[in-house]
Amino acid sequence: MKILKSFRFRLEPTTEQSQCLTRYRGCARLVWNKALALQKGRLEAGYPLLSYEELARLLTLWRHSEEYGFLANAPIHPLQWTLKFLDRAIRAAFDKSNPARFPTFKKKNRDEAGLRFPDPKQIKLDLSTKDADGRCVLPKVCLPKIGWVKFRKSRTIDGTIRNATVTWQAGHWYISFQTEIDVPEPVHPSESAVGIDRGIVHFAALSDGTFVDAPGWFRRHEKKLAWEMRKLSRKKRFSRNWQKQKARLQRLHAHIANARRDFLHKTSTAISKTHAMVFVEDLRIQNMSRSAKGTRENPGKNVRAKSGLNKAILDQGWFMFQTFLGYKLHWSGGWLGTVPAPYTSQRCPVPECGHVSNANRPRQSTFRCERCGYEGNADTVGAMNILRAGLARIACSPV
Ligand SMILES: [Zn+2]
Repeated sequence: MKILKSFRFRLEPTTEQSQCLTRYRGCARLVWNKALALQKGRLEAGYPLLSYEELARLLTLWRHSEEYGFLANAPIHPLQWTLKFLDRAIRAAFDKSNPARFPTFKKKNRDEAGLRFPDPKQIKLDLSTKDADGRCVLPKVCLPKIGWVKFRKSRTIDGTIRNATVTWQAGHWYISFQTEIDVPEPVHPSESAVGIDRGIVHFAALSDGTFVDAPGWFRRHEKKLAWEMRKLSRKKRFSRNWQKQKARLQRLHAHIANARRDFLHKTSTAISKTHAMVFVEDLRIQNMSRSAKGTRENPGKNVRAKSGLNKAILDQGWFMFQTFLGYKLHWSGGWLGTVPAPYTSQRCPVPECGHVSNANRPRQSTFRCERCGYEGNADTVGAMNILRAGLARIACSPV
């Protein structure tokens, strides 16, 4: 299994090298701003965006022009990467699922601009700490059009170097190496399998009978959010007070998002450590009967609990939870399986019975099989059925 790691060190360039780096950073900034102005102009005029390849061809023209010929003195790869970053940033701003904003013009002396050296063949390292006369020296890295630069190697660099990025931050130069490391496939310490269903009363129910509950602050935040939203609605749109209230609401939203992420990380870590194989319902084909209103044949009896902000907050979290769980299991040698699971809440989990009926759910929170009399928590039954469906799928598919 290959993983990427990054190692960041303080660079110690000479005055001359530092001036070089500053000039190259200036070139990268110019290329960014020029290309951004061009793309903005095209968008405003209704033309399609230029592709990265077209921008890169323009860069070659600029480098050969009289006006911008000085760009040819800078290493080419970091300038090309500046265009690549810009291209990605613009496209990300158009992606509705992404909160990224449209890129802005770069100003001098801001910290963010970095020079990316993408070709590992052009990055050489000299890690010797003694020179020919036996004196202590700093390790050095050789970069195109800069030469050997000293850096403070504060830790061992593991793996094979893929690229390097030079950044300037708060008055210092830094270099970060991205490396690729081959680690052995992990073997999960546990052999247990579990099914997880999103609960009605609980955030999640596990097939082993345990529940995961959202912390109490979810409800407190829900109340506060509703309160702040009501306050916003009473203010005159776009007035000063409206803007202030809007900003307060945004801060609260950000706070809730962070707290939720934290809760989901803790929960997914705990589950990925305890169970090697986890099954969840395939969200893409989740049927609508599980919505708050229910279906015509099976109207929801818990509409109030299932709707509202609290549900919205937890709903958004569920997808994130599955993503976290998926990669954490992968890292620990476990596995996350998704199963199409219709009737999970109506099917009797007793293997010999398996009776499916609406009548098995006398109440939203309890399950009672009308055929064999099995009784249990409705959420747990859903999770048990997901586990059963998951294990059945493995048994059928050749491994
Ligand atoms: Zn039964």
